Amino acid sequence: MLEIKNLHVKLEEEDKQILKGVDLSVGAGEVHAIMGPNGSGKSTLSYVMSGRDGYEVTDGSIALDGADMLEMEPEERAAAGLFLAFQYPVEIPGVGNMTFLRTALNAQRKARGQEEISAADFLKLIRERAKELKIGSEMLKRPVNVGFSGGEKKRNEILQMAVLEPKMCVLDETDSGLDVDAMKLVADGVNALRSEGRSFLVITHYQRLLNHIVPDVVHIMANGKIVKTGGKELAMEVEENGYSDILDAQNETG
Ligand code: ADP
Ligand code: MG
Ligand code: MG
Repeated sequence: MLEIKNLHVKLEEEDKQILKGVDLSVGAGEVHAIMGPNGSGKSTLSYVMSGRDGYEVTDGSIALDGADMLEMEPEERAAAGLFLAFQYPVEIPGVGNMTFLRTALNAQRKARGQEEISAADFLKLIRERAKELKIGSEMLKRPVNVGFSGGEKKRNEILQMAVLEPKMCVLDETDSGLDVDAMKLVADGVNALRSEGRSFLVITHYQRLLNHIVPDVVHIMANGKIVKTGGKELAMEVEENGYSDILDAQNETG
């Protein structure tokens, strides 16, 4: 599903190399977690996947279902099935949540050469999804994320995911200080949307999120690289011993 090879990224503004050869392969239907100390490049990886300005890919590739992501505009990436959820969801004053979702869905359909969804079909779709996620109609009418609580923003993010039906979801929850309730919301949403054809990459500084979203594979990132890969027990190991053991072993083997 997602194939990242030898990814090297530097900042555009300064001569600073941030990702130094990231290799990552996520199969269809799998849930992978990336953990790692602060400043290791986890968020940079998600930004580069989203196509955000300010970063220069100096080597390597990112492919989604065989398609070269780096050749695509951010909207094209979304149309190809990539969804990114960030720590701080954007607020869009003056744009109702429903309108935003419909616009996003139609942009995706257009890029895929599909017809726009009819108003009636959209209403039906959104009502179904909102009901499944226990989202009230009041939240659908409010401007996107404006004045939303942390929990509401998270719920809204999951709603966007449910409506857009992405193939590959990337969630960067690093250092977000999600309270336990918001974390459970994210986890329940992700778990509800897990399916054979949909993969997740969950980026987190802390192990606790992974008690709720049980990953198939855990990667540890340090200093711009994936330095260790294992099963869910790797997250427990980090929780107990911190990152130092892994990083020391890494340094000894070079
Ligand atoms: P993580 O998410 O793992 O905490 P980041 O990807 O946020 O790590 O950051 C990786 C490194 O790159 C850090 O040293 C950070 O200071 C640096 N960095 C990232 N983006 C920028 C930027 N726009 N300007 C300067 N430094 C940056
Ligand atoms: Mg950080
Ligand atoms: Mg980060």
